[in-house]
Amino acid sequence: MTRILVLSTIIAAGVVSIAAAAYQAQPAGTRTIETEKLRDNLYVLKSSTPGDNATFSGGNVSVFITSSGVTLVDTKLAGWGQPLLDDIKKITDKPVTTVINTHTHADHTGNNNLFTGQVTFIAQENTKTNMEKMATFTGENARFLPSKTFTTTLTVGSGNDRIELHYYGAGHTNGDTWVYFPALRVLQTGDMFAWKDAPLCDRANGGSCVEFPKTIAKALAEIRNVDDVIPGHSPMMKLKDLQEYQRFNADFVAQALAAKQAGTSVDNASAAIGAALTRKYAGYQSTRVKAAVQVVYDESK
Ligand SMILES: [Zn+2]
Repeated sequence: MTRILVLSTIIAAGVVSIAAAAYQAQPAGTRTIETEKLRDNLYVLKSSTPGDNATFSGGNVSVFITSSGVTLVDTKLAGWGQPLLDDIKKITDKPVTTVINTHTHADHTGNNNLFTGQVTFIAQENTKTNMEKMATFTGENARFLPSKTFTTTLTVGSGNDRIELHYYGAGHTNGDTWVYFPALRVLQTGDMFAWKDAPLCDRANGGSCVEFPKTIAKALAEIRNVDDVIPGHSPMMKLKDLQEYQRFNADFVAQALAAKQAGTSVDNASAAIGAALTRKYAGYQSTRVKAAVQVVYDESK
């Protein structure tokens, strides 16, 4: 029992340090974040390509201007706080009153600590638990943890300012919030739809590649009136892109489970699945297929 505990602690620590290295902030230079106006009262402070540390600012952030203030969804990566604040100021004079974190990762929660006024921080309850384990939210900074949580659904605001928050199950982590703006017919997915490639399933934070397609399917079944989709780390998408991503993930998991069943190695399975899926789904990449196949194999042990 003790050995298992020690081992899993070491594995968890390894995952944390890999994640920290990947998200390490670069020395300050001229940092700019591209802004896109999606609606009159909804802007996106756009993500850049993960992997290029000089330009990677963290995930897509939405700026929703309501009658009572600004609601921000996600806060990008630490080190990008000043351009983030500058861009919000260019859009509106209103203060940020609500911050929603779609999930725990540092590239979505990295600047919570800049919002020191009367701000309500909201996240799904599992995400709060995951954030409590992060060094950046200990001690004094614990006040930037979610002050309001929910289990499956939470409505924020009313009328045209209404936002619906939903949790449909595990995927990228075990606390991914789907943020729906009904009056605008816009859905923000966090990293439940980060890119057109295999998903990143963070098992240390309760993520599951096997559950991933089922979780997206639930979201699609329940949230009906959507035109535009704000993904985690890609340019703006449409509903049909999210529907396709669900099919991609269902195919991916079915093929990975079949390969596991057949005793195929992770390397061989990844090469075959990556080739088959990029042939079937136009515009998709396979750079993340191997890591995701490994997760499916680990999950189905
Ligand atoms: Zn993430």
